[in-house]
This record gives sequence, C-alpha cells and structure tokens, in this order.
Amino acid sequence: MAFEEAQHSVELLLTCNRSAPLSQGFPGTETELVVHGLRFGELTNTARYALINHSDMKDDCLFCKIVAGEIPSGKVYEDETCIAFNDISPQAPTHVLVVPREHFDSLDTATDAQRATLGHLLLASAEIARKRGIAEDGYRVVINTNADGGQTVFHLHVHLLGGRPFVFPPG
Ligand code: AMP
Ligand code: ZN
Repeated sequence: MAFEEAQHSVELLLTCNRSAPLSQGFPGTETELVVHGLRFGELTNTARYALINHSDMKDDCLFCKIVAGEIPSGKVYEDETCIAFNDISPQAPTHVLVVPREHFDSLDTATDAQRATLGHLLLASAEIARKRGIAEDGYRVVINTNADGGQTVFHLHVHLLGGRPFVFPPG
C-alpha cells in the first residue's frame, strides 16, 4: 500500500472513529489501525509522526477552533458532520452558520470528496430552519465564496438567514 493510500485509510478510520478533533489524538484507533500490516504502535516514529501530523484541522482556522470547542460559540445544532452556531454579527433575526467539522477552505476548493458533506449542510440548514419556525415564511442560505463573494472565514460555511424578508439580488 502506498503511503498516500495508507494516509487515506487513516483519514477514513479517524473520520469513522473519532469523537474529538484529530489534534486531540487518535481516539479508539491505536489498537485498530493497521498500516502496511503493522499496527499503529509498531510503526516507526517517522511514520507515526507523519500520520499524526496529517490533521484536517487547520491550526489557524477560527471555525476549526469553534468545532473543536477551543473558542466558545452559541451552538444551536450539531451532528456527526457539522455544527451550527449563531453568527457573532447577525444580519437577520436568525443568522446561523452551519459549519462542517471537516476543514475545507471554500466551495471553490471543494471536490467530489465533499459532495455528501455539502448536501448534508443544506439538509441540516433546512432542518434548523424548520425547528426555529422560519421555514414557512422562508429563509435564505448563502455560501460566500472567495473575495468577490464576500468570504472572510476560509472554512466553508453556510449562512442560514431568516426572520425577515430579503431582497434579490443581494448587494
Ligand atoms: P463569511 O464572511 O461568509 O466568510 O462569513 C463569516 C461569518 O463569520 C461572518 O458573518 C462573521 O460575523 C462570522 N463570525 C466571525 N467570527 C465569529 C465567531 N467567533 N462566532 C460566530 N460567528 C463569527
Ligand atoms: Zn477550519
């Protein structure tokens, strides 16, 4: 197995097993992880560090820190794929950010690997909207992308806005 394949397997395993961000360790993996026929504990230090350092959490990412619970947020929803919290600078009576636990910069950098996650974010947004009682009147979901799109935090997120009417096109 090539190192990249092994690394991919590790990522999948961690995605399945982890209950905490990768930066906090490998919950539940040490006895299960097998790379090149070797258990994690049998790998060389170089191989172990290479795997450990391959984290999908970006150290300098605000939303990764919120996902990890390192920065407080007004959480309104969470599941295995995403968390949702109130925007710190609300632009509507309901302004919730729906954020994947997995870091990827933007819609522009998303790949086929994020297809299910992107769909999940939209369905989670719709569920939150129904729970907050804004679905019937209507709401807006927005994914600002790159500079002209107005993106300021480069960890993809969905804005769920509601509780007032919106005009189109937006400014
Ligand atoms: P965007 O400009 O589309 O990248 O959206 C980033 C959003 O994150 C903005 O609406 C900010 O108000 C919001 N934001 C920034 N910092 C925080 C924070 N600590 N907690 C909640 N929302 C935040
Ligand atoms: Zn991030």
